[in-house]
Amino acid sequence: MTMPPANMRAVVIHRHGGPDVLSYEAVPVPQPGPGEALIRVRATSLNRLDPRARSGPPEPVFPWPEGTFPIISGSDCAGDVIASGPGVDPKLLGQRVVLYPSLFCNACDECRAGEQTRCLTYHIFGEHTPGAMAEYAVAPAANLLTLPESVSYTDAAAMPVAYTTAWRMLVTAGQLTADATILVLGAGGGVGSAALVIGRRLGARVLAGAGSEEKRQLAIQHGADAAVDSGQPFSERVMELTGGRGVDIVVDPLGITWPESIRGLARGGCLAVCGATAGNRPVFDIRELYQRHRRIVGAPMGNWRDFVSVITLLNRGELRPIIDGVYPLAEARQAHVRAESRRSFGKIVLTA
Ligand SMILES: [Zn+2]
Repeated sequence: MTMPPANMRAVVIHRHGGPDVLSYEAVPVPQPGPGEALIRVRATSLNRLDPRARSGPPEPVFPWPEGTFPIISGSDCAGDVIASGPGVDPKLLGQRVVLYPSLFCNACDECRAGEQTRCLTYHIFGEHTPGAMAEYAVAPAANLLTLPESVSYTDAAAMPVAYTTAWRMLVTAGQLTADATILVLGAGGGVGSAALVIGRRLGARVLAGAGSEEKRQLAIQHGADAAVDSGQPFSERVMELTGGRGVDIVVDPLGITWPESIRGLARGGCLAVCGATAGNRPVFDIRELYQRHRRIVGAPMGNWRDFVSVITLLNRGELRPIIDGVYPLAEARQAHVRAESRRSFGKIVLTA
């Protein structure tokens, strides 16, 4: 087993600002503690957390501890285990792995019930701890799943946050069935493109919502059955496309779209929410919700079982993430610029 060097390169944030505050520089390689693995990171990918770690939140966020500088973000991580702290199964050494980035106590009632993301001390690798925008990272060994040779680090690193969240929204929260019709808003985003892929894989009819014609075309190319313009009221079009019934699930990462999303739901349909990237103060009529037995469910991330579900499909070759582009870690600035251009479709991956 190769010994880790003393120093590594990492994308370090010393202050809030635009992509130019990202500094690719030498920092010490972290040391694994009890139960932890040292991972030689081969790939990571951008999520909403990364630009937010860099720019700071747009407004005070409900009780979420902000990281203290310097920050190394990056919640998605695929790589090789090259060392470990006490109490880690030695068989893990040398394995190709992908990380479940939720950090949890494993002792509270929620954890014991398998709901790790509801843990009373829930936090996130790469947001509240140093993450994977680096050549090496330390994470709990129990959070790792091994990858077969057939799965690339690039594909694996695209999965954990976006695909686990999308799985949670559609399958665990939305109880998706193969005869369902779903509407995926923000279809070009990480979670949106994941919901498109997962919805198709599970046999659902997928309507994709996107704000540009280019993205609507891409959504169709990636398997959506139809596309709607989410930049204007879309519920009537959704009703037309579903013979007046509405969709069973709306995947809504946008927030400001709630009134139209709710109107586009079938009776008993589920509005699944993982974010509010376009505005978090929607105004809607409560009667449109309860009188048709519709429900709203929050799904900021999935539990361990949701993660295992998507990685199992990946490992079997039954699910492949949509990837917009791959950048070397040294070009993290360009990757952030691309992410914030709002022109990307799918995940932006960085390789180390
Ligand atoms: Zn817990």
